[in-house]
Amino acid sequence: MQTYETVIGLEIHVQLSTASKAFCADDASFGGAPNTHTSAISLAHPGTLPRLNAAAVEGAVRLGLALDCRINRRSCFDRKNYFYADLPKGFQTTQDRAPICLGGRYTTGGASPRTVRIHHIHLEEDAGKSLHDQDAADSLIDLNRAGVPLLEIVTEPDLRSAEEVAAFMSGIRRLVRWLGISDGNMEEGSLRCDVNVSVRKNGETRLGQRCEIKNVNSMRFARRAIEYEVKRQIELLENGGTIVQETRGFDAATGTTYSLREKEEAHDYRYFPEPDLPPVVLSETYIEDLRTAMPILPEALETGFREQYGLPDYDIEMLLQERDTAYYFMEVLEHSGRPEMAKPIANLVIHKLLPWSTQTGTPLSACPVPPGHWIELLEMIDRGTVSATAAFLRLLPAMLEQPDVAPEGLAAGMQLIQSADPDMLGKVVDEIIAQNPDKVAAYRKGKKGLIGFFMGELMKASKGQADPKAAAQLLEQRLK
Ligand code: ADP
Ligand code: MG
Repeated sequence: MQTYETVIGLEIHVQLSTASKAFCADDASFGGAPNTHTSAISLAHPGTLPRLNAAAVEGAVRLGLALDCRINRRSCFDRKNYFYADLPKGFQTTQDRAPICLGGRYTTGGASPRTVRIHHIHLEEDAGKSLHDQDAADSLIDLNRAGVPLLEIVTEPDLRSAEEVAAFMSGIRRLVRWLGISDGNMEEGSLRCDVNVSVRKNGETRLGQRCEIKNVNSMRFARRAIEYEVKRQIELLENGGTIVQETRGFDAATGTTYSLREKEEAHDYRYFPEPDLPPVVLSETYIEDLRTAMPILPEALETGFREQYGLPDYDIEMLLQERDTAYYFMEVLEHSGRPEMAKPIANLVIHKLLPWSTQTGTPLSACPVPPGHWIELLEMIDRGTVSATAAFLRLLPAMLEQPDVAPEGLAAGMQLIQSADPDMLGKVVDEIIAQNPDKVAAYRKGKKGLIGFFMGELMKASKGQADPKAAAQLLEQRLK
């Protein structure tokens, strides 16, 4: 197997989260009672006409800019004809001759980055859903999804393993969410991918014959489908067989791929120009305005997070999962004015604030606590003014409840301020020593592990308000 190289190209469908469909005003949101997001247009009644959704065009251009594509100033629509029950028009409106974005590239993150060239991105519409596995013998059709806008990203065959595919798909998912053009939800089918797989002998420069695995709808399935398909193709070749170019399905139950149909060619679809939609003509100003308004992309932030702040991979991944999280982290960090605060702030955001955000359904950008208060909290922990435990378990929830009160004041009111005051500590230490003569004797005979017991007693006696560092020092001194 080591003598073969795996070659993979992807066709990724991204469902755009526009309010309405690609060519009419129907609700484009996921779900809804079957066949309620429909109209005469999406049902393809005779005489109805499509009208292009500007938000879908904008989504396409923004993704194209993010992927370094050339934006086609003049793209146009075509009809891809085929008959299927969930396609009321009998054709899909898509872009065959002149797609909206051309070329481009995306480099995956992580330890072994891979730059994947994008062939093009085109705008099209989704089909409805056929439900075959109901109790009834009949198939049921739900046309809510018919006409929902899709972007299809077609890559060059630049990927070399299932791991690279997973990294690429995660990157694209993060990017479309970051741009706010799609929820990237694979379970709901907002992100689907057809995987083209071929193998060739190492050192061979020509591409092998490929098979296309349709509609792989989770990262895990993609990995299993590729692994199976590579093995199948190599075995076939090793046994003197040839690969026939075909479209295959993936059976998640058995982890195998199976032949669906022979590869269809463009002419099978009788593509022809869509006469009901004029070409999409974009002005330079339109494109430049969108370019100017682009957010910083996660790939660009990733480098800074690693090199300037020295954050570990896990933190970087967590912070960059959502734009909201990354921006909030940067806002708090900027407020501190100290790059060395990056790690404690990242910890706070990842381990304390993100769970709060998920639990309460509040985006971090709407967190009521001013960034300055978080800095104060972290500094109080650093100085030993509050213990980390008290800070996160008690003070932090109180800060979220009373966002206007500064943490120092809150901590004082809640009696969480630790004391390093030697007089106060001294008194408590003396008491503990007096109350535990046998333990003190044992300690002095060498049972040094008892220090933990004394510290526990001290914390209890001081109601958690003793600064542990100062307390430990004083204890050791007096015990000697
Ligand atoms: P078609 O339009 O017939 O589907 P394309 O040339 O547009 O064919 O390719 C579709 C996808 O297949 C692209 O993602 C491309 O990268 C990929 N692909 C093409 N040839 C190969 C190959 N030999 N091995 C793996 N993937 C391939
Ligand atoms: Mg294709």
